[in-house]
Amino acid sequence: MHLKRRLATAGIALGVAAASTGAALTAQAEPADPSETVTWTVGDLTGPELAELDRLGFDVVRTRGGAHVLGDEAVAEELRALGHDPEFLDTVYKEVETTAQQEGTYYGGYRTVDAYEADLQELTAANPGLTRLHDIGDSWLKTQDQTQGHDVYAVCLTAIAAGDCETDPDSAKPRFSLIAQIHAREIATGEIAWRWMEKLVDGYGTDPAVTALLDTTEVWVVPIANPDGVDIVASGGDDPVLHRKNANDSNGDCGDRLGIDLNRNSGFEWGADSTNPCAETYQGPAAASEPETRAVEDWLRALHPDQRGEDPGDAAPADARDVFISLHSYGEYIIVPWGYTSDTAPNDAALRDLGAAMAESNGYFVGTNDDTVGYATSGTTDDFTYGEFGIASFTFEIGPGFGNCGGFFPAFSCVDDTLWPENEGALMTAAQAAAAPYAD
Ligand SMILES: [Zn+2]
Repeated sequence: MHLKRRLATAGIALGVAAASTGAALTAQAEPADPSETVTWTVGDLTGPELAELDRLGFDVVRTRGGAHVLGDEAVAEELRALGHDPEFLDTVYKEVETTAQQEGTYYGGYRTVDAYEADLQELTAANPGLTRLHDIGDSWLKTQDQTQGHDVYAVCLTAIAAGDCETDPDSAKPRFSLIAQIHAREIATGEIAWRWMEKLVDGYGTDPAVTALLDTTEVWVVPIANPDGVDIVASGGDDPVLHRKNANDSNGDCGDRLGIDLNRNSGFEWGADSTNPCAETYQGPAAASEPETRAVEDWLRALHPDQRGEDPGDAAPADARDVFISLHSYGEYIIVPWGYTSDTAPNDAALRDLGAAMAESNGYFVGTNDDTVGYATSGTTDDFTYGEFGIASFTFEIGPGFGNCGGFFPAFSCVDDTLWPENEGALMTAAQAAAAPYAD
């Protein structure tokens, strides 16, 4: 643990130098503790090569600057045995900045699920004219034992008039829906969802843009789509567990690699992703097999009217409404559909236009899977929302791949110092476009 803290400093210096020059990264240090999980770069592998590593059970993260594999020195040796040339990039774990942590937090200030839920109850109780809290379903653990696991929560935020915040797609106001932490270890995303909700309730009546937004638009947020997974992450305390999937352990003996990837489990074009129950991208035994997936899909069906035809080539009309974003990390991308195919989405140009407008805030690279991470993904939530309803749908990959604010576990201060500020405007742009995201 102490070794990783010192190494984090080397990682910061490396990250700053690379970010400022745009130069290719070269390894400048080796992990001092061979048993510590760190980030390795594996060079310019093709999409299919990366997919193969994923299928074999490696923890692969795809970035435009080259692919990463997370693991310890033994994992690096396995990669070398397969003919790859892994180089140490950075630590996964950053220095924890405070020892005086508040109750209900871990890793310097990130909230546990229980603490987050208490905050949600408080926020919505204090703002009855602006918020409604909805229980949209159970986590997998709760479906097994009602005394365990969690409810999955959605918050509706708007200046509530009669008929607002109902789960009916025929709503008077257009809608912007946002989900976070469907991948549990992407810990900054839940905090960004919180700051988004807080901005709206605090800004109504004082910030003209927020006031106009909530007078005309319903904003919906599922801040922790995978609460069982986040419990596993937070169980590590200052050394969070790198758990991505849900907590369903009924599909094979995977040790701590258990669970289904909820962002490969959605029902639209499901079934072309990993069938290895121990892979990080395991798609599950059937489309929408997981209770968290069904909770989110049923909630989305109750919010968004179907505005697109059945054929993959059918475009949503130019006057279609509603926007959806799924928050992930990391890589600094705004990814547009499709994920499941390299075919161009029928609303491609308009999706890229809105992506570019959002990128004016965060500077992220806008493109499809092909343009960004390099290979196809099936059963993702944003393919579901675009495919089923035709609404403008995006995946954000928050944050850089290295440095103190990079990777899955950025230092907590990064949320308020960089990650929230750079994305605040992008979320406003998305919400303000909800009435007509494809309009010129
Ligand atoms: Zn993710």
